[in-house]
Parts: sequence; structure tokens; C-alpha cells
Amino acid sequence: MSQFYTVSWFSAGVSSAVATRLAIDSYGVDEIIYIDIEDQHPDSMRFVKDCERWFGRPITILRSPYGTVERACRAAGWINGPRGAACTRLLKKRVRKEWERSNAHHNLRYVWGLDADEAARAERIADAMPQFEHLFPLLDHASGNGMGKAEAHAVLRASGIKRPAMYDLGYHNNNCIGCVKGGMGYWNKIRLDFPEVFAARAKLERIIGASCIKGVFLDELAADAGRHGGPIVDECGIFCEIIGIEPATERLTGGDQLTADTTQPAVAQADAKPAEIAQ
Ligand code: SF4
Repeated sequence: MSQFYTVSWFSAGVSSAVATRLAIDSYGVDEIIYIDIEDQHPDSMRFVKDCERWFGRPITILRSPYGTVERACRAAGWINGPRGAACTRLLKKRVRKEWERSNAHHNLRYVWGLDADEAARAERIADAMPQFEHLFPLLDHASGNGMGKAEAHAVLRASGIKRPAMYDLGYHNNNCIGCVKGGMGYWNKIRLDFPEVFAARAKLERIIGASCIKGVFLDELAADAGRHGGPIVDECGIFCEIIGIEPATERLTGGDQLTADTTQPAVAQADAKPAEIAQ
């Protein structure tokens, strides 16, 4: 039994899924936690359920009582700024901190899905939370210089799990639809793919009096502004063989009470209580 209580903060993204699976195999993981936001693409919950089968265990699902990006931004009175996004703080960070408060008796060790290109971000996470141990299975992967995004996509594909729909729509991650941290090209893509979300965020900006993109309100954004790269294409590599990946169906266990229901979370935990907006 490890001296640590190891928790994977699963984001329902591809890198996070592969990092979680690697951590299960290499270190052991005591709990996998996904913080759900109503603005996620509905396919995210299908992906969560598929990953439960791949991981061979249920995923704990936490939710903020604010629920949506819009409610969080309205409550905070701002959207995005030098100190980060209001929704990140209220919908994710606060939920994690409340979980940490109720689990302070554990010697916590966290698993993060940062990849080979995100070493600086990983360092910032470790510096920001020195009270915990941190694992970065993709960065530390023994196959060479760590595992990049394309390799992580290839590993997931080899598992037989379909990646979340947002990637196939051409987005680089499975963030909320209409992520307030997006740039001009991102927003012009959202305008085309999810016009109702674009319109709702544009309205929100005017209500709050602040913009997502610095200095440009969405209802003034030129339709040809910015660029958004194409979908991530799986790299034809040897990573799957290196880590001995198994198809998701081979990880099924009888005792984890996994269900085929893709509309409901397997484990819904009590929401955090709204409190002051603080770092
Ligand atoms: S993914 Fe984007 S919109 Fe969603 S909580 Fe994070 S910053 Fe906000």
C-alpha cells in the first residue's frame, strides 16, 4: 500500500486519459476525479464512461453549484484577466480546493496529463502546490523525451476508445464549448460550429462589461480575424507497442459497477458550496 493517496485529476481530454492509464499501471491510482461543467460537449460524458472501462474503475464526478460558465462569470463579475478566468476559479479550482479540505487527512499525490511540450506548465503546477507530490506520466514517459499530444492520441486510438467529439470538430482540447480563454481564431470557429454559444457569450460580455479576448468584444470581432489550426492527426508511431496498450474491452472488471448508461455520471458527489471568490 502506497504511503500516498494518489489522485488523477482527469479532464476528459486525451492526454489526461492516457496519463491516467499510465499512472494506474506504473504507480497505482486511488481515485480518478473529473470536474464536470455543463458547458462541456455532451460527448464528454460518453468519453468518461468509456474511460471508466479502460481504467477498470469508476470515475468520481464533482460539480460546482454554479454549474455553467455563464453563472460563474456573472457571480464573479468578470470573465477573463491576468489572474485567470472566473469560470476556472469557481467551477474547477474551488471544487478541487474543497475536495482537498475534506481529504486533508491523506498524503496526496496528484496525476496530471501534461505532455512533452508542457514541461514549463508542469513546473508551475509543482511550484504552486508544494504541499502535494505530483506525477506527470506523459512528461516522464520512459520512451525518450516524453509523450507528445499526437502520440497520446495514437495511444488512445489503440485502446479502442473514440476521442471526445470536440477533437474531431477541429479543436485542440476538450474544453468547454465557448471557452473564455480562446483567441480570435477560436471564437470565429465557435461562431460557425456553435452559433448559439457564440451569441450567448457575446451577450454575457456586454452584461458584464468585459471581453473574453483582450480589447475585442465578440459582437465586434471581424469574421476573418485569427486562425485556428486543424484537427490533431494521430502520429504513426510505436508508442502503443512500447507501453503495451490493451483495448478498453480487456480492462472490464466485474466488481466496479460500471454501467452502459452514457447520459448519467457513474458517481455524482455532493457539490461544493458557493463561497467567496478567492484564489
Ligand atoms: S475550459 Fe474554458 S470556459 Fe471552461 S472553465 Fe476552463 S476557462 Fe472556463
